[in-house]
Amino acid sequence: MIREVKNGNTTIKYELTRKKVKNINLRVKPDFTVAVSAPSRVSLRYLDEFVLSKADFINSAIEEYKNKTVARLEPRYTPEEFTALIKRYFDEVYTKFIPYNIDRPQLRLKRMKSRWGSCNFVKRVIALSTNLIYCTEEQIYYVVVHEFSHLLVHNHSKAFYDIVSVFCPDYKRIRREMNSIMLE
Ligand SMILES: [Zn+2]
Repeated sequence: MIREVKNGNTTIKYELTRKKVKNINLRVKPDFTVAVSAPSRVSLRYLDEFVLSKADFINSAIEEYKNKTVARLEPRYTPEEFTALIKRYFDEVYTKFIPYNIDRPQLRLKRMKSRWGSCNFVKRVIALSTNLIYCTEEQIYYVVVHEFSHLLVHNHSKAFYDIVSVFCPDYKRIRREMNSIMLE
């Protein structure tokens, strides 16, 4: 159910879902819509007031999404620079992994919708997303390290991140920063 509440000159629209939840949950989605889930005992009037009281939060969340969207739309490199950069980091990381006795995997650069990279350890192919053109060199390096580490550990266990952290000690911060980049 879609509801509307007025807040001064602006109107906040929200989509209400009744659920068996304990509390009222309010979420601003990347498409700037507001989703609210609430238990059935909470009245509509109360929910409208609740949404109104969150107006500042909703506006700042939308602003944040807008900033992220802008960041996403600007490639950091020319296509030539980007291809050269990917190859350079691929070679650099491969050199670091030589002591682990791995065969050199193949590199594929391809359009990927929701991932930065993938590793097919059976075929020994590492695919990197063309969306990395929106990322810093540090972020690209992390993704390459991440996919190479999958040649040794196939899941995202602690053992996996132990290897990642050998070559990329700051991976947690980098991963967090990458999660805030919006992909289409
Ligand atoms: Zn992974």
